Amino acid sequence: MRLIGYGLRVFPLQGVWRSPTGQFVCTCGSEKCQNPGKHPLASLAPRGLKNATTCQSTVERWFTRAPAANVGLATGLIIVLDVDPRHGGDESLRQLEAVHGPLPLTWRVLTGGGGEHIFFRPPAGVEVRNSAGLLGPGLDVRGVGGYVVAPSSLHASGRTYEWSVDHHPDETPLAPMPDWMLEALGPPATGPARPASEWRQLVAEGVVSGARNNTVARLTGLLLRKNVDALVALELMQAFNAARCQPPLSEEEITRTVGSIALKELKRREVRDGVR
Ligand SMILES: [Zn+2]
Repeated sequence: MRLIGYGLRVFPLQGVWRSPTGQFVCTCGSEKCQNPGKHPLASLAPRGLKNATTCQSTVERWFTRAPAANVGLATGLIIVLDVDPRHGGDESLRQLEAVHGPLPLTWRVLTGGGGEHIFFRPPAGVEVRNSAGLLGPGLDVRGVGGYVVAPSSLHASGRTYEWSVDHHPDETPLAPMPDWMLEALGPPATGPARPASEWRQLVAEGVVSGARNNTVARLTGLLLRKNVDALVALELMQAFNAARCQPPLSEEEITRTVGSIALKELKRREVRDGVR
């Protein structure tokens, strides 16, 4: 499967087929299926998204046994912006581009439903989460713990998902996610105050994959706002990471995160103090 060659992790989804009455229906067999051709094929991949792999032989086995299966593409290491025109996604994107400039050239898929999937590479160590409507109506983001339906799959409309010819991975680089988008999707590192009980719980219970970077960023922001020296904050966050992040991030990632928050805090103070 060519998707694997692009470094994409895939797993089988229910497919869509034409019923005797001519309608396209989900292969799960449920007449009431709310998500035709888009939910995991549990008989082959019982853990769904968690079974996603780049292993050629596994993937070949799956799709030989279920040739009508659709292909799920696990996100996280790549991020997909899902533009749904039925909910105004194309208009939302147009407005964002008017403010921030056009999106960089990158991979795009035309979904069988008339929408578009726009692919981005997140910065190393940054975990972009799933979100719906955070960037605007009709704009969803599939990140860590998410998936999208991949090209060659059949949509319930009867059309297939296809790479956009001008945005095909064979000819197009995968663009990094624009900074403005990352900032819009990430929680404010030095955002509104949280109750002390929440911080206590966080420090006591620790954090799991998917929340580590954001948590380190927030705790760092808290420390710096309390005028803790940046190097001391770095030491504290390295210790927090080792003791409370499961699994811990690398020391380099902690250094990078603390460094970037320290820079932001410095800028904030300059603005506050009127330094130019
Ligand atoms: Zn179904």
